[in-house]
Amino acid sequence: MTTKPLAGKRALVTGGSRGIGAEIVRRLAADGASVAFTYGSSITDAEKVVADVTSRGGTALAIQADAADPVQTTAAVERTVAELGGLEVLVNNAGVVHAAPIDNYPAAEFDRQVAVNINGTFWAVRAAIGHLGQGSRIINIGSCLADRVQAPGVSVYAMTKGAVSSFTRALARELGPKGITVNNVAPGPIATDMTPTEGEFAESLKRTTALNHYGHPKDIAAVVSLLAHPESGYITGADWNVDGGFTV
Ligand code: NDP
Repeated sequence: MTTKPLAGKRALVTGGSRGIGAEIVRRLAADGASVAFTYGSSITDAEKVVADVTSRGGTALAIQADAADPVQTTAAVERTVAELGGLEVLVNNAGVVHAAPIDNYPAAEFDRQVAVNINGTFWAVRAAIGHLGQGSRIINIGSCLADRVQAPGVSVYAMTKGAVSSFTRALARELGPKGITVNNVAPGPIATDMTPTEGEFAESLKRTTALNHYGHPKDIAAVVSLLAHPESGYITGADWNVDGGFTV
């Protein structure tokens, strides 16, 4: 008898080559799921994630697909279903940030954040929805900055993650009758390329948390795993702050 809670499940994680997404891929695979993931350009990192998973006896499939591109995202979903045989867990993790004052904020950076963080989440859900049945899970990765911002410069990013949070709630209402849950995991400062633990802002950012330290990508992966668990079927439409007390 298997002790792996996600045995037999098929998952797709967007942006799984590095950071939080890579750890989510590893965790869902360790829980027994077959896991496909997309990446933008980090092919070497993506290959390493596949090698990590397969060396532990799991199944991982890396798919190059720009989260902002509806055609590529739809193709990634279709390939996941074709190669893994179905889809029960969608994790919308791919995200980008650009910090700058609002006056003269670069238009291209505004467009990129909206395209990846908001549009990318929408396109993945739209592509996946026809494949997700009763008991399926949509897990979005938002940000604690949707609720509280401790320093200037991240207004656009906060706006996009606020959109992810409200999309989550509305979608939970829409998909509830189909038995599909939708939740938003909102990380605080997590040690990744996006939020380096060294540098100009690292020390002050650390102090914004009640725990006075950065989180690890595994902290986020653990909550994604919990939400994907078959026994978590009555949790939907919720924001899960995993932020070391940042929003307290
Ligand atoms: P990283 O920058 O470390 O990694 C981002 C991942 O997303 C990479 O795998 C990258 O792949 C992928 N990605 C980025 N853009 C695209 C795209 N257009 N198409 C496909 N894949 C893409 O970020 P984190 O791991 O730190 O962040 C993951 C999520 O968590 C994001 O949504 C972020 O906003 C959120 N978050 C992170 C926090 C933190 O402190 N780290 C705090 C709050 C929220 P590639 O390199 O191949 O392009």
